[in-house]
Parts: sequence; structure tokens; C-alpha cells
Amino acid sequence: MATDQTSRFSDLTIGVLALQGAFIEHVQMLRGLGASAREVRLPSDLEGLDGLIIPGGESTTIGKLLVHYELLEPLRGLVDSGLPIYGTCAGTILLAKDIGGLDQPLLATMDLVVERNAFGRQLQSFETDLEIAGLGEEPFRAVFIRAPAITSTGPGVDVLAKLENGTIVAARQDSLLVSCFHPELTDDDRFHRAFLEQVRAHKTAARPLPQAAPAT
Ligand code: GLN
Repeated sequence: MATDQTSRFSDLTIGVLALQGAFIEHVQMLRGLGASAREVRLPSDLEGLDGLIIPGGESTTIGKLLVHYELLEPLRGLVDSGLPIYGTCAGTILLAKDIGGLDQPLLATMDLVVERNAFGRQLQSFETDLEIAGLGEEPFRAVFIRAPAITSTGPGVDVLAKLENGTIVAARQDSLLVSCFHPELTDDDRFHRAFLEQVRAHKTAARPLPQAAPAT
């Protein structure tokens, strides 16, 4: 679902963490929307970003590579600075404060309790239509791959989507956005567009246009 307003995002530079996992699809979707996308592998790649995507993949591997490439602390700094960050699937796990006590490196900044591989063997991968808050009435085809579930949220978290059985699968807390499914594996760009709108709002608020001189 292409949009004819892609030029709206042409001044935004979005980093996509490219250590492991499904990062290329995010890069392609961002470029399709007119934004600049930069693969992030080193701390220097974080300079000057307007937003960041943490893709799906294997959260244990991505976490270890974050430590190895000395990205964990700079990324925590960016979260603290309010940079808009969107985590998909493993990205949700990396952003959650609580993953049930499992010992793996995390950014651990969002008030979520997340259960890894929550859908078990039978449902390792599945697709379903979801209603997502803010994305209009048209259902969103959500692709789940060995996905986590959000089992509880703190008071500052807005729930954006749930499965029919009530399992939370997308949420937002301030500048942080997460989905347990993979919009980048579909041709529906509404989720990425909503993220870019969030990035746009943050960028505009951070760098207000110069005020006109008051009339004398
Ligand atoms: N099962 C993976 C993990 O626990 C996440 C899967 C994904 O990102 N698609 O890290």
C-alpha cells in the first residue's frame, strides 16, 4: 500500500540496527516511504539519526552483538534522550524491562513484561488480521514468527493491538513503539508510516522553527 505522500518523510534519517535478523526489509520499507535508512553496526552509525528500528531476529544473538560492538550503552543513551525507537519482535524483547528473569543483554527500558517464544511449537509462525489503534478500520495482516507476547504493561504504556484471546501484541510508551509481529514482511506500510509520523513530531518538537520577530 504505497502512499503518495512519500516526500513528507524525505528529511528523516532512520537507523536500522543491522547486526542480525530481518533488517533489510525495514530498510526497504523506509526507503519506499521516502525516508533515508541507514544500517547501524557501529556506535558512529548512530550519529544524527532521527529515529531507530530494532528488527526481529534472535534477541540473544542481537544482545550479544550489541555488547560486542559497544552499542548497548550508546543505545540506552538514545532511549533516555527520547529518540523514537521502534522494536519488532526480537526488538520488543530487547526493549522490555522484564523477560521473566532470562539472562541475556537487554536495553530494558520499556515497562513491559514479555514472554519469549510465547506461542509454542504449534504456533511458531502464524498470520492473523488485527485491528491496530490509530491505523484505521482496515485490518492489518500481522505475521508472527517465533514471536514473543506482552504479558503485562506498566501504567505509562498504551496498548495498540491485541489478539482475539486478549494477548497484547503492540504497544507504545512515550517515544518507544513495539510490535510482536513483522509489518516489514507485508506490503502494508501503515505501521512504518505511523512510526515516521512519530519521528516527524519528535523532530519538529526538538528543533522548533525560528519564531517570527514580535511586531513592534
Ligand atoms: N524468538 C526470537 C527471540 O526470542 C524472536 C523472533 C523474531 O524476532 N521473529 O529472540
